[in-house]
Amino acid sequence: MAEKTIFKKIIDKEIPADIIYEDELCLAFKDLNPQAPVHILVIPKKEIRSLGTIEAEDQTLLGHLLLVIRKLAEDLKLSEGFRTVANTGKDGGQTVDHLHFHLLGQRPLDWPPG
Ligand code: C5P
Repeated sequence: MAEKTIFKKIIDKEIPADIIYEDELCLAFKDLNPQAPVHILVIPKKEIRSLGTIEAEDQTLLGHLLLVIRKLAEDLKLSEGFRTVANTGKDGGQTVDHLHFHLLGQRPLDWPPG
């Protein structure tokens, strides 16, 4: 079997993370290397490599993740706005091969990214 990703190990509670939200489908935890005062990662419990490999059967799950992001943004009072990013593949800057959405906020964010 393939080696578990670091995020699968977090899902399986084999390594610690600062989890701020969990339900039957997903997990949200603080990024270890925050790029903004709020930097959360929202991940599905299902092992999906990236946005580059999602399937039609993942449609409901993906909608759920976006609704969780909206709820977290509300709970964290990101009323001035926030950014949601899913780095995909090598050129996208993805370093962990388990789908994750970054939720960044509480400071003005530059555009375009590097
Ligand atoms: O989009 P990308 O794959 O580069 O993002 C991975 C993110 O996972 C990084 O922001 C990194 O800081 C974070 N990370 C984490 N906890 C770990 C390993 C990585 O928060 N144990």
